[in-house]
Amino acid sequence: MAIMVPKGRKYLCADALFRLLREHFATIADDRVDEVEIPLSDALMSAFAMFSLKAPSLLAFDKQRAEGNLKTIYGIAHTPCDTRMRERLDPVSPESLRPSFTLVFRQLQRGKALEPMAFLDGHYLLALDGTGYFSSQTIHCASCLHKVHRNGSITYYHQMLGAAIIHPDCREVIPLMPEPIVQQDGTDKNDCERNAAKRFLVKLRQDHPHLKFIVTEDSLSSNAPHIETLHDHGCHYILGVKKGDHAYLFTQVQAAEEAGRVTSYERHDRAAGVIHRFRFVNDVPLNASRADVRVNFMEYWEIGPDQVQHFSWVTDLRVNKRNVYTLMRGGRARWKIENETFNTLKNQGDNFEHNYGHGEQHLSVVFATIMMLAFLVDQTQQLCCALFRAVWAKLGSKRLLWERLRALFYDYRLESMRELFEALFYGYETHRPILITDSSSIPPVSLTSLLVNPAIPTRHRRRLPRSRHVPVFNLTSCPFASPFDWRQVIDSTKSTKSSKASRSGIWYKIGTNFLPRVRESTIAPRLVSQSSGVGRIKHSPLHLQPTC
Ligand SMILES: [Zn+2]
Repeated sequence: MAIMVPKGRKYLCADALFRLLREHFATIADDRVDEVEIPLSDALMSAFAMFSLKAPSLLAFDKQRAEGNLKTIYGIAHTPCDTRMRERLDPVSPESLRPSFTLVFRQLQRGKALEPMAFLDGHYLLALDGTGYFSSQTIHCASCLHKVHRNGSITYYHQMLGAAIIHPDCREVIPLMPEPIVQQDGTDKNDCERNAAKRFLVKLRQDHPHLKFIVTEDSLSSNAPHIETLHDHGCHYILGVKKGDHAYLFTQVQAAEEAGRVTSYERHDRAAGVIHRFRFVNDVPLNASRADVRVNFMEYWEIGPDQVQHFSWVTDLRVNKRNVYTLMRGGRARWKIENETFNTLKNQGDNFEHNYGHGEQHLSVVFATIMMLAFLVDQTQQLCCALFRAVWAKLGSKRLLWERLRALFYDYRLESMRELFEALFYGYETHRPILITDSSSIPPVSLTSLLVNPAIPTRHRRRLPRSRHVPVFNLTSCPFASPFDWRQVIDSTKSTKSSKASRSGIWYKIGTNFLPRVRESTIAPRLVSQSSGVGRIKHSPLHLQPTC
């Protein structure tokens, strides 16, 4: 049976999203426009490509920047070297990247991809949480927060307030533009999560004036001023509370229980062997000093065969037996921002300053923001691009998917991300590389003698790469591929050979007899690593025709 690439909404797939971001980056003011300078849009897109390809460090990305498909897939005309990229991005205001997030978000809205993520009565569950991603005793910049220790030493660090739309039943999260927690102009005092939340909510309402949100946060945010800020911006909330931090509230609940005002409710999940036990009471004061701030309280025990888990929250939504289970799931879904969203910073950004660099002004924040933007694009694809999901399902893990994606990206000539994903999905032919040896840099030696010369100890013999070509369809019967014309390959390499040979020496060509039949358009060879003198010719991956 034929395997078909699933259809998807094209404007929500990687190629369209990359184009969208590139167009926005081109509108960001670039004060260093001259003929020799790499455009800021190329520097920004290069940083995006680095995080999008999950390059482990800026240096690793830099080493491969001349190869691969950065131009065709990411539209980067000139990829800067690592030093140049840091110099170009350091002065960029992180705020100038905000429209990139809203542009992708609008595409999600256009594709109606957000609608299934509505949590309760058309409200979206928005998780907010602060996280640190950098700390150092020596490296610091103008944006760094700092902590002076008793012994006089100083620790510099960076934090951000992350925000993501989540849903208890949805694996994907939609990150919004994070709010950096950084040194603010004109003050020596450190910025803090609460101030960042105030700034975040103002900007949230500018970006999304009409969206309905239920904000969910941990117990640090359950304080009267923050609850008022949430109300001022038209947001509902489900916030964690702890007995130790909110003793007055728990005393009030106990008093309400004794007065018979507290409702208890139990729900049995026999399939999972779990009992959900609730108690809740509406309209109690949060603390003694601000008795005017009234909240609804709910407490929850998940009683399993082996363990009991306990949680408690306050909310401004009136709690009753019908909605308490849903509200509990909303409160518990908050872990997604830690596990799903911040993992991208923590897994990829371990040793952030070492891997990517810190800069003197904004570089660290710009990199963290672009990393989050790349994560938004990944999550959008995962949510909306059927081809991406099909490849992920086929490979079984994200880690393998990124590994295979990078290998193809750097080893084959590709026109689009779609072509890359199709190659991963359908499979592609691998064959022996056509080696190109430049005798001006390498002494001419007989490769054959290296293979078999008994005078050379076995461990020192060079081995030519073995073909991994495995015929998976009958060459003569497949109706989809035209018969392979080997003369086309010989001709095309001859033309390269004749022009290059006169300039730089002798060329060896190995393994054409293993080349499978290909479409004419895939034959044009491309010479790589000319400067090093040794290379191979890259082709587009040869797609297997799955219907054979
Ligand atoms: Zn810093």
